[in-house]
Amino acid sequence: MSGKRVVRIIFGLILLVVFAVCSYMSFMAAPKSMDMNKAPAESAAPVETPAPSAAPEESPAVSQEPVESEVPEETPEPVNSDLPQIDITSWEYILANLDNPIGEYTPTTETLEGQPLDTRIIEPMKEFVAAARAEGLSVYLSSGYRDYATQQYLYNRKVAQYGEEVAKTIVAPPGTSEHQTGLACDITDRYYESKDRSLENTAMYQWMSQHCQEYGFIVRYPDGKEDVTGIIYEPWHFRYVGVEAATYIMEHGLCLEEFLDLYK
Ligand SMILES: [Zn+2]
Repeated sequence: MSGKRVVRIIFGLILLVVFAVCSYMSFMAAPKSMDMNKAPAESAAPVETPAPSAAPEESPAVSQEPVESEVPEETPEPVNSDLPQIDITSWEYILANLDNPIGEYTPTTETLEGQPLDTRIIEPMKEFVAAARAEGLSVYLSSGYRDYATQQYLYNRKVAQYGEEVAKTIVAPPGTSEHQTGLACDITDRYYESKDRSLENTAMYQWMSQHCQEYGFIVRYPDGKEDVTGIIYEPWHFRYVGVEAATYIMEHGLCLEEFLDLYK
């Protein structure tokens, strides 16, 4: 009898120990999975609260950093990488506007279809016009080089009509007209010669504004750039700047002033 009792007591003690060990292990396991540093049961609840708040704070911080650092790096890269490597002091980039008067600058000119132009743009203009005519378009060279005196006459006439403030947005004051560079030409349709924004609806302008850069020309006074150029939208005024610059300007929707600013 006493032997069985001892066995029962030992068996009972083993059960107690096993139970105690199991309880202890499960107790320890629970808080550890939530917080490796804090064991006590009371920490389980408060630990959970900072955990989710810490996570959203961390993830935007991580995702913001690369976004911020990538954007400023990428933005200047394309501008610099595909910007033509050109000497902007070359004749193709002469700038004539209210802020950059060219005085009585006089280029060597040659006449093409009744319009004097800088000799150096005669060939590209011939090709441009020929390509447009090959498309069945009735191109008309309306106005090329204008000398200082002619510009003075045109300007004074507009001043008399509208006053100086309005006049200088329509006709450039002498010395500030791009026509005086000999690098620009007004091109209209032979059957639609009016120089106003409705010209943009002609098949001729549609084609010429899409292909001008292939021949080195740009739409010099684009729609929406009046604040930069100081000149109203002129869908008839094309300016020679060379194929490289023209391609960049037309593809990026710039005006000449904005393009030249990229080299400052
Ligand atoms: Zn013009």
